[in-house]
Amino acid sequence: MQRSQVSAMNSSLELGRIMGIPVRLHWTIIFIVLFIAWSFASVHQETGGIVYGLGGIEPVALRWIASLIFSLALFACVALHELGHSYIAKKSGVKIRSITLYFFGGVAAMEEIPRNPRLELKMAFAGPGVSGVLGFVLLFLGLQARAFAGSGSPLTIMLSDLGLMNLMLMAFNLLPAFPMDGGRLLRAWFAFRMPYVKATRRASDIGKIFATLMFLVGLSTLNFMLLFVAFFVYVGASEEEKATEISVSLEGIRVKDIMSAKVQVVVPDMNLEELKEMMFREKHRGYPVMSGGALQGIVTLTDLQNVPEAERAGTRVGSVMARKLYLIGPQEEASTAMKMMNELQIRRLPVMDEGQLVGIVSREDLVRAIELCSELEH
Ligand code: ZN
Repeated sequence: MQRSQVSAMNSSLELGRIMGIPVRLHWTIIFIVLFIAWSFASVHQETGGIVYGLGGIEPVALRWIASLIFSLALFACVALHELGHSYIAKKSGVKIRSITLYFFGGVAAMEEIPRNPRLELKMAFAGPGVSGVLGFVLLFLGLQARAFAGSGSPLTIMLSDLGLMNLMLMAFNLLPAFPMDGGRLLRAWFAFRMPYVKATRRASDIGKIFATLMFLVGLSTLNFMLLFVAFFVYVGASEEEKATEISVSLEGIRVKDIMSAKVQVVVPDMNLEELKEMMFREKHRGYPVMSGGALQGIVTLTDLQNVPEAERAGTRVGSVMARKLYLIGPQEEASTAMKMMNELQIRRLPVMDEGQLVGIVSREDLVRAIELCSELEH
């Protein structure tokens, strides 16, 4: 899977960097690694000369250690799948912020997937391509191990099962629905023939039909895993459609077109009682804090609310403001501002031009712009 949207991924641990891209683990992965290890240690089946699961391995300690290694190796394969996407993206100049391994697989957070069908086709195909190659190579190694150590040896079982899992990963990701790679392939294919938003809508419609069919099959067979996947695919299709419409409707609009240029600023020495009155009077929820001509921070309604009423008169803006500043330039795309706000979970960005504060852009400004643009389109 790959996603263009970036979201705040705070609850994750950075493992290291590969090709300069931080690879992270989301905490939910602990459960799924243990769950897969447990399932793998509990299953023992043999079909067509291939043994599924390490349930037949003795002694028990070896069975569990091998199962845990298997589970970790499986996630390493998921990471390689994501790196496959990232490699093509990077080569074509798309920035990758990070790769996070999740409960459901991996997500590569990209700055933006370029609206170029040829590139999207290559990028979307790279992940399943890596999984496919890994699958065949591991199956081949599994055959070698079988000739050498027998079909019941832990090494043979691990290699051939890992090979099969990679082929399944490839097949699952090629399902023609967002957020699977197959959905992107489908969109790229449509995008050669029609505008991008229309192509996205069509691909997302097919994904929804697909999800509905999966849901019906899941319901009639009482397969809860299938119901779960169907729901996930349905939501993914709708989200992609929405995200694309937003970034397309903001196309060509710059921060300077939508920002508030007359910025009211406050000084660090102002107390919170005065700030509250100012907010009531002017109906802004956040102000840049300036001192000596330089931007010091930003103070918002939330900062004010965090201080009890009784202490407000004695508390200065300078001691509660956010000092970590995320800035944007007036020439930047409005959609970049949107992405920064979503990613950083903030509501406004000071606009700086050559060291001067020239405006402030807020979530409300963006929402208004999106509404106006979609109004003009219809
Ligand atoms: Zn993928």
